[in-house]
Amino acid sequence: MTTENSQPGLVIVPEDVCKKVIDRASAFTAVESVFAAMAKGDAYNFPVIREAIGYADALYGFKSGFDRAGMALGVKSGGYWPGNAEKGLTNHQSTIFLFDPDTGKLTALVGGNYLTAVRTAASCAVSIAHLARKDAKTLGIIGAGHQASFQLRAAAEQRQFEKIVAWNKSPERLDSLAAVAADLGLPFESLDREQVAAQSDVIITITSAHEALLLNDWIRPGTHIACMGTDTRGKQEVDAQLFATASVFTDEVAQSISIGEAQHAVDQGLLTQDDITPIGDVINGVDGGRTSAEQITLFDGTGVGLQDLAVATTAVELAVAKGLATSVAL
Ligand code: NAD
Repeated sequence: MTTENSQPGLVIVPEDVCKKVIDRASAFTAVESVFAAMAKGDAYNFPVIREAIGYADALYGFKSGFDRAGMALGVKSGGYWPGNAEKGLTNHQSTIFLFDPDTGKLTALVGGNYLTAVRTAASCAVSIAHLARKDAKTLGIIGAGHQASFQLRAAAEQRQFEKIVAWNKSPERLDSLAAVAADLGLPFESLDREQVAAQSDVIITITSAHEALLLNDWIRPGTHIACMGTDTRGKQEVDAQLFATASVFTDEVAQSISIGEAQHAVDQGLLTQDDITPIGDVINGVDGGRTSAEQITLFDGTGVGLQDLAVATTAVELAVAKGLATSVAL
């Protein structure tokens, strides 16, 4: 039974409505706020489940948590279906379920594909806003898959960048990034990885690589690196030695050392969890973040369920306010 938009019930916010109501600014605010809440202990993520289901080569799982500050309780459920592209579908599929923290009642069902892309871009943008040098001029991107264009657009808003440089394993995929750069009115150059490092003030890595693509010796003093691709055991994008050189920040320390980019440095004894600062501490002013122009800062963006819940909560509020949500009685 369909009810009025403003009536209580199960609110449904499909993918197309998420795209209409969540822009980069609202995603940034939601993600920055939840990182702040996590660092204060007001919000916490529950252990992540991710399993190969033994069918369709699919990986399926849940990311969930509770944000007492934002009153967001819920779960993002979904995963990776490698055969989807042939069916005209996105390989990554997810849906976000929100519950009333007072009653446990299911309150909203929100498409999670677009929101995953924008909340991941927002995470990286938050790290640049708080950790990159103010005079950063060149932005480097390693990777040119689905997520890379989102990262580029969100990052480009954080500093007065004058040039984009990029590398991808298959260079032809860089065309999509070049088009975004052109749209932003910025020059774009395809370079090898060492040259990307040599020219960049800010570098984003957003690949599915399982080996170091950037070496410690290549990174210039003063660089900010946002490692965004590693979200599973075994993936790797940068030299583990970089964790001994850089000041290391993350969305969540527990994920950073287990499934994030820091896993390799921890395994090699180059880093302990005490060496990693939650970015929420920087947002909250508890940690000074970047303290010199020469310091290399590294953000290990592992992707937490609370980010999904934060943007989904905002999407529900905006969709209901704009009359774009459907509501059904359960
Ligand atoms: P995608 O499949 O569209 O693109 C994958 C990218 O990785 C491409 O640029 C590809 O060329 C590159 N790549 C693959 N194998 C490589 C290798 N061995 N060496 C170098 N480059 C390689 O994926 P996507 O949606 O753009 O996501 C990129 C990565 O980010 C994935 O690993 C994904 O799991 C991860 N991710 C992280 C978060 C987060 O919150 N941290 C969120 C979404 C996606």
